[in-house]
Amino acid sequence: MILCKTVAELRAELAIARNEGRTIGLVPTMGALHEGHASLIRAANMENDLVVVSVFVNPTQFGPNEDLDSYPRTLEADCLIAEREGADIVFAPTAKEMYPSEDMTWVEVTGGITNVLCGRSRPTHFRGVTTVVSKLFNLAQPDRAYFGQKDAQQVQVLAKMVKDLFFNLQLRIMPIVREADGLAKSSRNTYLSPEERRAALILSRSLKEAEKLFAAGERDGKKLAEFTEELIKTEPMADIDYVEIYRMPDLSECSGPLEGAGLLAVAVRFGKTRLIDNLVLEVK
Ligand code: AMP
Repeated sequence: MILCKTVAELRAELAIARNEGRTIGLVPTMGALHEGHASLIRAANMENDLVVVSVFVNPTQFGPNEDLDSYPRTLEADCLIAEREGADIVFAPTAKEMYPSEDMTWVEVTGGITNVLCGRSRPTHFRGVTTVVSKLFNLAQPDRAYFGQKDAQQVQVLAKMVKDLFFNLQLRIMPIVREADGLAKSSRNTYLSPEERRAALILSRSLKEAEKLFAAGERDGKKLAEFTEELIKTEPMADIDYVEIYRMPDLSECSGPLEGAGLLAVAVRFGKTRLIDNLVLEVK
């Protein structure tokens, strides 16, 4: 496996692969790799001739009072995991390499899809995500790019960007990987104290209960969200940012009975750590 730290190195490596007609899979990450990331790398390895994993803590997707400085950085361990799962290249640029000029070119998806859920509490977040992912797409020119359903809104925003900007690639969305007790794997889980870690289980448990209610026939989106919120409120350490339901794929308001697919999404703080989780409800 090769570690590329510059745009020029990555381009040179990929030019060789492309000349040989090899297909390229890209897995964008912020590092601190865990089983969730590993599942994306494995899928990319199965479906492509060459796999690029990017490891870049992207400053533009963090707000002013967020955890950019304390975000875990574990490049050596990340390279071992990436190699073990079949990656051919780890691309780990510096911020200066990805953003060489202070004058910025932004790629921004506007409208409801980026204003709701995480877009409301993190107003500049998705602009940072779409900008860095566009840069990575232009650099790697992958045939397929791999993202996790864990970040459900990100997936819908990126799908819109790919469609609107005619990116010539396939988005591959992988299911949420969880700990044995149900907590969605996240690089931020390492911030949790043992007490917060235990309290955080309320997220997956509440979503599971909502899924049961849905399976029993409840189709009222608002009721499903309220039911989930009430369950989360039973955990005193849970400080709720949102518990909401929107229609898929455009994340439009979900009033009245669910039709098609709905996204029930939660963001909750435990101490200083903000965690997200979600459930897709499909009306058959
Ligand atoms: P991050 O490093 O947190 O930016 O995540 C990089 C990619 O891994 C994103 O597409 C995430 O959605 C995905 N990912 C993170 N956690 C999980 C998980 N528990 N299950 C599946 N995919 C995940």
